[in-house]
Amino acid sequence: MNLPKIENENFAGKRVFLRVDFNVPLENGVVTDVTRIEKTLPTIELLIKQGAKIVIASHLGRPAGKPNPEFSMKQVFEKFKELVTCPVAFSDKVVGPEVKALTQSLKNGEILVIENLRFHAEEEANDKKFSKSLSELADVYINDAFGAAHRAHASTEGITHEIPSFAGLLMRKEIEMLSSLVTRPKKPFVAIIGGSKVSTKIKILKNLIDKVDYILIGGGMSYTFLKSRAIPIGTSLFEKDYEVQAYQLIDSSGVQGINLQLPVDHVIADSFSDKAKTKTVDKMGILDGWMGMDIGPKTVSNYEKIIKDAATIFWNGPMGVFEMDKFANGTTQIAKAVAKSKAVSIVGGGDSIAAINKAKVADKITHISTGGGASLEFLEGKTLPGVKALIEGAKE
Ligand code: AMP
Repeated sequence: MNLPKIENENFAGKRVFLRVDFNVPLENGVVTDVTRIEKTLPTIELLIKQGAKIVIASHLGRPAGKPNPEFSMKQVFEKFKELVTCPVAFSDKVVGPEVKALTQSLKNGEILVIENLRFHAEEEANDKKFSKSLSELADVYINDAFGAAHRAHASTEGITHEIPSFAGLLMRKEIEMLSSLVTRPKKPFVAIIGGSKVSTKIKILKNLIDKVDYILIGGGMSYTFLKSRAIPIGTSLFEKDYEVQAYQLIDSSGVQGINLQLPVDHVIADSFSDKAKTKTVDKMGILDGWMGMDIGPKTVSNYEKIIKDAATIFWNGPMGVFEMDKFANGTTQIAKAVAKSKAVSIVGGGDSIAAINKAKVADKITHISTGGGASLEFLEGKTLPGVKALIEGAKE
């Protein structure tokens, strides 16, 4: 994929509109996880070294096209300024003459962070006039927001038609790592797919099935697969509309010689609560009145053996309701197994990242994708509008 690079350019004295994904978790106005900010620092540091004037823009949450203090970028700015050494200022406006004047007064190597792009409904509507107003804040555009690349918004798509556009270092790394999964992955290639629903993962499963050697299923989605094989699942999470597709996926993996594994034992609970009565059952089936909340120890051991010999691993989605400590063991053990393996390991999706962090093994993972939805859509085989815009802009 020929993304226009920034390393070969010289942005000295130029105003750069840097679209980042600083859509970070907040608690009482304080950033609780800086991963997404830290991942963009190499791009920012390179631009500072070159002597660029940087205008940083991001979305934060879903403010529904209106200003809302709960979603103000000011909260992120407070954390961000602790992570960089150069002067950083904040603009409470996104577009207009005041913020334009602020960008014009930036000195080389200085940063201006602007307010939440989504305070304007025109952002998500990919409004042409709004894209133009954003482009007036800079001479060039750099997109480092892989996590927003699956959306055709003014700051990810529209703006590329207005000023010369480039891919940031994080954007390129994300695309290169995820591309390596679909083009010539080292074998054996193991995909570990968990999380709550089959509906959100079925497309990725279908797209990966002819590329992987093993598919290890866990989490709430397991139960639709088990039920499709007439195995009793009690009151576990179940998506009736996806039962047939789950059945077919098991079938087609058999035909293609893919080893698709389902949980063979479970940690079950009598209600969806951390105060629930729980037990570990040593079989695939679950009795009436009980629900599967985590994979059991036999399943963990089966999966560990496969992970140990993998050359490539992709993991998305937890193995159980890991937010509740009682049901976190399966996910934690799998995180540790992935960390221990010598495989190229790529983890995508917010919850799997949280699980990796909870198990304290983030430094043992080859690549942690910052883009949950974007990494899924990429691996589903979809073209990401934000990436397409950069490639087409480069051709122009
Ligand atoms: P996803 O966003 O699809 O990757 O799903 C993540 C969510 O799946 C997490 O919030 C988990 O609590 C939930 N989850 C995992 N296993 C189960 C399960 N057995 N039953 C219900 N929810 C689950």
